[in-house]
Formats: sequence, structure tokens, C-alpha cells
Amino acid sequence: MTAPAQPVDLFDLVIFGGTGDLAVRKLLPALFHRFVDGQIQDGSRIVGVAREALDDDGYRQQVRATLNGAAQSKPDKLDAFLKMVHYRPLDARKDEGWDDFAKLMGECPSHVRVFYLSTSPDLFVDICQRLGHYGLNKGESRVVLEKPIGHDLASANRINDDVGAVFAESQTYRIDHYLGKETVQNLLALRFGNALFEPLWNAGHIDHVQITVAETLGVGRRGPYYDHAGALRDMVQNHMLQLLCMVAMEPPASLSPDAVRDEKLKVLHALKPIDEGNAAQLTVRGQYRAGAAEGQSVPGYIEDLNADSKSKVEKSNTETFVALKAEIGNWRWAGVPFYLRTGKRLAERVSEIVVAFKPVPHSIFTASAGPLAQNRLVLRLQPDEGVKLWLTIKHPGPGGLRLRHVPLDMSFVEAFGVQQPDAYERLLLDVVRGNPTLFMRRDEVEAAWRWADPILAAWAASGEAPRPYTSGTWGPSAAVALIERDGRTWDEDYE
Ligand code: NAP
Repeated sequence: MTAPAQPVDLFDLVIFGGTGDLAVRKLLPALFHRFVDGQIQDGSRIVGVAREALDDDGYRQQVRATLNGAAQSKPDKLDAFLKMVHYRPLDARKDEGWDDFAKLMGECPSHVRVFYLSTSPDLFVDICQRLGHYGLNKGESRVVLEKPIGHDLASANRINDDVGAVFAESQTYRIDHYLGKETVQNLLALRFGNALFEPLWNAGHIDHVQITVAETLGVGRRGPYYDHAGALRDMVQNHMLQLLCMVAMEPPASLSPDAVRDEKLKVLHALKPIDEGNAAQLTVRGQYRAGAAEGQSVPGYIEDLNADSKSKVEKSNTETFVALKAEIGNWRWAGVPFYLRTGKRLAERVSEIVVAFKPVPHSIFTASAGPLAQNRLVLRLQPDEGVKLWLTIKHPGPGGLRLRHVPLDMSFVEAFGVQQPDAYERLLLDVVRGNPTLFMRRDEVEAAWRWADPILAAWAASGEAPRPYTSGTWGPSAAVALIERDGRTWDEDYE
């Protein structure tokens, strides 16, 4: 039996952008689930902030509509939760409304204060400056920054400098929700809680690593944002590099926030540069065309952009797919490729890390036993989180020795009989607890941009358009060639 989750201290959690997509789809349901589990005490407050002219009751109605599905079997809990919910209308860029908001904050001076900036990043500075003006950055006060943090190194530095003028680094939580996923935490437990893996976790025994983050959806209503970002900025620079760091980092001395983040930073510093000299060999960009997704015909990227924007876009050079081969220049990983690929409108929705071990040095089996496959450790982040270790065993029964490749399968839902909490549930409460281990430190964000910027510059200099791929496939054929040139294949063993 695991111990019940402990309640966190009383808090005021302010969601700037409280009516937006992220707040509605992720943050409010996450808080509700933690409340139902008894981790949020009565007396804590959740304050939505946006420009829309709502009062507390109007916002509560919106939140009720959002949570009705999740609260079906617990209507009394929903009523109790909604009592915690408040709303203040204000424009981050204008003075009106801030006095009233500051007054509300002043009612509970002993509460931990969390300001979650779930708005466009160009509002971060305005919001922080005003919070500073009202002294709301003092004491047990924290600010959470949503991605994207900048568009490149220079813009990330500007945001970090401006936010840093109000909130100390120790108060600043840069969220990457991939780090809150159960499987990612499990990577730490697997690597450092078992004697089995760590001796093999190096270039002597690992052949290569693959990280796939594949979506079946297109850009949807995020088109205008996405067209200025693209897959490298939207997925690789943050989520995928963070996953790579968790796989590749040295054992930290402890789980203290800086011990873990120091080790991740060393990995980012050790990434070999990809620039104009080698980007054409090591990277592939793609853009989806019309095709089929989940049995439905779907439009291409340009049509998706035009569905969302008033102006007619005829052409875009933005990539909706990236595959690349990264290498880490240190003793542990020398010569071990890390193949990363991510894209929209791909064949399946799946996020996985595959650690492929080297083949056995010599086979004692005859050809009739069948081929010997490599051991693979597969960490699935979505849709159903779990870990599989693929092993070779003997096919049961008489009939000669035939080999089979089977998984030791640990689906978390099956193993523990409960749906795993969403990453935001853990991360939001970690902010209240003041534990930044799973958040990105400023120097990590900068190091990630320092690696990504030359790739973006190389693509811009080449002037080449992204390669087209049909929706519902695994991206451009060049992405297959990228890995097959090395005698390897993408792991597509999804069920
Ligand atoms: P969204 O749906 O466009 O919501 C934006 C929110 O900000 C709305 O509540 C909006 O309400 C408010 N807002 C806009 N201008 C404002 C102003 N001047 N003053 C005060 N409030 C203002 O955006 P979102 O999808 O929730 O995304 C929010 C942030 O999270 C973005 O940085 C995004 O990149 C990031 N993010 C989102 C997701 C996701 O799944 N949605 C995932 C990862 C990261 P009013 O218009 O009423 O003011």
C-alpha cells in the first residue's frame, strides 16, 4: 500500500490566461483532481485572470462546464472546489483592474503565491513588472513560465532578464510538462534504483537511442503561433532535448533540484553542433500535405493555416516535422547516435524513448532458431504510459530451439490499476511545495537554444523548403533514409 498523498500548504494560485485553452483543458482539471485526492486544503484559492469581463460567478460557471465530465461521480466535490475559484478581469498591459487584484491577493498574506503565466510570452514582462510594482513578488511567491521561452537565444535572454528583474531564479519555474510525466520520473527510478541498467548505460553496450514524439493532429487553431515557430522550436528545443538529457545525464549525487539540473546542463553542453556544415546530412524537415488521419481525410498544412487566419497564406517554409541525428561528445556516449523525430499529422499518436542495446557479440544459435533481435528498453510517454523491456527467449514447447523476441511489459495502468495523474497535477503542486527539480533552470534553456539556433540558421541559409509528406504517414522518406543509412530502422512496434 502506498501512503496517501500529503496536502500542500495553503496557497493562492493565479492563472493569467485563466479562460484560455491551456487553463481550461489542463490546469483547472489538474487542480480539481488534486483537490479530490485531498492534496488541496479548503482555504486555498484559485484565481483566473483575463481581459474577459466576468465576475467570480461567471467564471465559476465556465469552470463548472469545463469540469462537469471529470466531476460526474463527485458533484459535491465540484461544488466545494468551485468555492475556491475566483476571477479578476484585467488587461496585462493596462492599469485598470490591478488595484482590485492586488487587494484580493492581500487578503491572504500567509498563503504561498503562485502566478502561472498561461498567456502569450509577450505578456510575461508586463505581468511580472506589475506584480513587482504591487510587491507581490515578495516572500513565498513563485512565477511559472509556459513555453515557448523565446524564439531564439537572444529573445529567451530578454524574457529571462526581464522576468529576472522581478523574480529571483529560485522563484522562477519554467515548465516543461514532459518532465512531469510518470514515465520520465520512472526513467530516474529505472536508471538509479536498479543495479541492472547503469553498468550497461554507455557506448559500450548501447547501440543507439530513439526519441519519437508523434502527433496525429494538425496545427488546429494554433496555426498563427505555429507558423512562426515550427517543430524544432515547438518540440525539439524544449521537450525532446529534456528527454534526451534525462536519458543521457550522469547519475546526479542526489535528487536535489540543482544536482539533477547540473547533470542535464552538462549533456546540453556536450551536444555536438549541427550547423551549416552538416545540417543537410543530420536533419530532415517536412511539412504535411492532405491525407488521412484516424480514418478521416484531412487537409494539408497550408489549408489548415488558411482555415485559421484571415489572410490567405500561399506558401510557408515552416516545418511540421523534424528528424535529426544528435551526438553527445563525451566518454559515456561517444559514437552513440540519438535519433529524434517529431511531427504533426503522423501515422500514430505516440511518444516513446527507445534505448536499443548492442547485439550479442557472438551467436551460438543456428539459422533455424530465427534471427537474434537487439534488446530494447522502450519507455512510452503517451498514450498509455509504461515501460517494456524486449528480451529474447525460447519459443515454448518441443520442435527445436526457436527464438522469440518478447516484452517484459509494465503498463502502469495495468500494474497499478489506476490511471496515472496528468503531468500538470504533479508539476503544479511541486511549484506550491517549492520543488523546482522538474523545471528548467535558465542556463538549461539557454544551452538548448545555443544548440538549436545554428540548426535554424543553417535551414534559413539553405533556403530549401521542407519536404512534403502525406498526412497519416511517418513523415518524408528522407527521415527513413536518415536512420537507414546507418543500418538502423525507426522503431514502429506500436500496438
Ligand atoms: P489561449 O487559448 O490563446 O489563451 C490566452 C489567454 O490569455 C486567454 O485567457 C486570454 O483571455 C488571455 N489574455 C490574452 N491577452 C491578455 C491580456 N492582454 N491580458 C490578460 N489576459 C490576456 O492560449 P493557450 O493555448 O491557453 O496558451 C497559453 C500559453 O501556454 C501560450 O504561451 C502557449 O504557447 C502555452 N502553451 C499552451 C499549450 C496548450 O495546450 N494550449 C501547451 C503548451 C504551452 P482574454 O482574451 O479574455 O484576455
